[in-house]
Amino acid sequence: MSRESPTSLPAFEASEAFARRMDAADPLAGFRERFLIPRAANGEPATYLAGNSLGLQPATVRQYLNEELEDWAIHGVEGHFRGRRPWYSYHEMFRESGAKLVGAKPGEVVMMNSLTVNLHLMMATFYRPTSDRYRIVIEDTAFPSDTYAVKSQLKCHGYDPADALILLQPRSGEHTIRTEDVLDLLDERGHEIALFVPAGVNFLTGQFFDIATMTAAAKKQGCVVGWDMAHAVGNVELWLHDWEVDFAVWCNYKYLNSGPGAVGGCFVHERHGRNLGLPRFAGWWGNDPDTRFRMHLQPEFTPRAGADGWQISNPPIFSLTPVKASIEIFEEATMPMLREKSWKLTGFLRFLLERDAGGVFEIVTPRDPRAHGCQLSILVHDRARERFAALEEAGVICDFREPDVIRAAPVPLYNTFVDVWRFARVLADAVG
Ligand SMILES: *Cc1c(COP(=O)(O)O)cnc(C)c1O
Repeated sequence: MSRESPTSLPAFEASEAFARRMDAADPLAGFRERFLIPRAANGEPATYLAGNSLGLQPATVRQYLNEELEDWAIHGVEGHFRGRRPWYSYHEMFRESGAKLVGAKPGEVVMMNSLTVNLHLMMATFYRPTSDRYRIVIEDTAFPSDTYAVKSQLKCHGYDPADALILLQPRSGEHTIRTEDVLDLLDERGHEIALFVPAGVNFLTGQFFDIATMTAAAKKQGCVVGWDMAHAVGNVELWLHDWEVDFAVWCNYKYLNSGPGAVGGCFVHERHGRNLGLPRFAGWWGNDPDTRFRMHLQPEFTPRAGADGWQISNPPIFSLTPVKASIEIFEEATMPMLREKSWKLTGFLRFLLERDAGGVFEIVTPRDPRAHGCQLSILVHDRARERFAALEEAGVICDFREPDVIRAAPVPLYNTFVDVWRFARVLADAVG
């Protein structure tokens, strides 16, 4: 399985009437009602294009949270087994649905901790440097938390990041990274690289990497391959199992709409999940459930097979509950349908922006539909902050990355073609 392309894109027209026709014909349009849309200052629904930063609240979250509060009130500690969704096995609700989101097999995915913590836990197991193979690869514009995590791991192992960290870079004058350049790097220096761990979709440029090709090339060189899927999960289709990715980590609060600081996700390929001898940072929730409650009688850790064996603590149920509410919606809408709509939304956005750019801004996200998800990143050459302020003023919620990038992400679950139209109009006025 590789990255797919859209089956067909309509002939776009630059009019609000066209946007309305697209919304009327959209088979996923009904899902918008299942989310709480923030309001602009004038009381109208905001044009919310920030689902790549924080997805919107599924309407069912409040009810599900109330049910957990009730179960706690009614059952106390016995809620672990007697609740309507027993807390003891709560995380197992995501075995299939969570795995499906990233193209994994049941047992390869667990929801736990948060993204950066999971990245550290995965590196504790999978970053095994030796004197001639100790380098780590990420992108040059990696999300800062990943950069800090990777540099601190290097230091913990006694390496100098200035020497041991390799950054994937665009060619001079370009904004995104060419697959061929990554393959050349792996050819030349693959034997020095212990861990190849970039993001699947770059947070700044919106570039969706050719994960299958890069993973295969890195593995051929003997590197361990992990991916940070924070901006990829719920956004693009993934086949982590078939791509033979060693591990992956992500957060659930961006495209997965599970609320601020929601519990994150972690994928461990089954070939490693079966290897109970792998070193790891252990805690009781990663232990075989059959002996977990022998407590002080069981001082030797026996990991549970699969990704579950990397859990440490018992999960925060109130932070996992929104994950359940959200994934239920993904189960209904399905990733292939969402991706198909996403291509239409971003295609429409690109079409409108390119008409209006007038040399003032350019889209840095790759044009190839296989190489981007929902987000388009707009590099503004002149008075970027002021133009962004005009968007805010007009009730558009998107985001600004210093010094000059506006990121807009129409999300197929709850954004409309009219949202895209409004955003493009306001930006054009701010430029014009
Ligand atoms: C959003 C994001 C993070 C955030 O990390 P947390 O541990 O969830 O706070 C880290 N890395 C990437 C690539 C991200 O997109």
